[in-house]
Amino acid sequence: MSNRVNLSRRNLFNRRTTHVNRPPWVKEDIEFTDLCSRCDKCIQACETQIIIKGSGGFPEISFNSDECTFCKQCVEACPEPIFGNTNVRPWLIVAQVDESCLVNQGVMCQSCKDACDYGAIKFPPALGKPAFPSITIEDCTGCGACVAPCPNDSIKIEMPKN
Ligand code: SF4
Ligand code: SF4
Ligand code: SF4
Repeated sequence: MSNRVNLSRRNLFNRRTTHVNRPPWVKEDIEFTDLCSRCDKCIQACETQIIIKGSGGFPEISFNSDECTFCKQCVEACPEPIFGNTNVRPWLIVAQVDESCLVNQGVMCQSCKDACDYGAIKFPPALGKPAFPSITIEDCTGCGACVAPCPNDSIKIEMPKN
């Protein structure tokens, strides 16, 4: 299955589920809610406590307080056939900055860049206006470390728009 097909499948899935992010390495070709028994073992195993009990009692990722370290403890804890190969990219979601970014209000802020261990956020100089954060999708792991430090809640971790 090509990446392009995977992306469109995920986009369809996300539209139906209003952008719920499941734990990393969840298989793409399953209906998550059919297989998940809501046992909470992944929630208890998560070292940064970013897996929360979401809608319907199913696990969801929340980056509001911390990031995914890709420790794989959720994968190891799950008793159901939900997770796939952990030697590949954990998910397709990436960081996206919206227009509410403080730079657009003339405020000097680079908190997201400082939080990113992967060098995925840069501030390319812009002529006559403040530099706006630019995310290199290829370098972004979707770890979510840039979400909580943003003082204006301007970063979402989602499927790429295109
Ligand atoms: S890989 Fe580790 S940090 Fe990431 S969601 Fe799973 S348990 Fe949590
Ligand atoms: S450990 Fe597996 S079955 Fe249990 S809640 Fe998490 S994803 Fe669902
Ligand atoms: S999600 Fe992680 S890798 Fe991507 S820009 Fe934010 S901190 Fe960097």
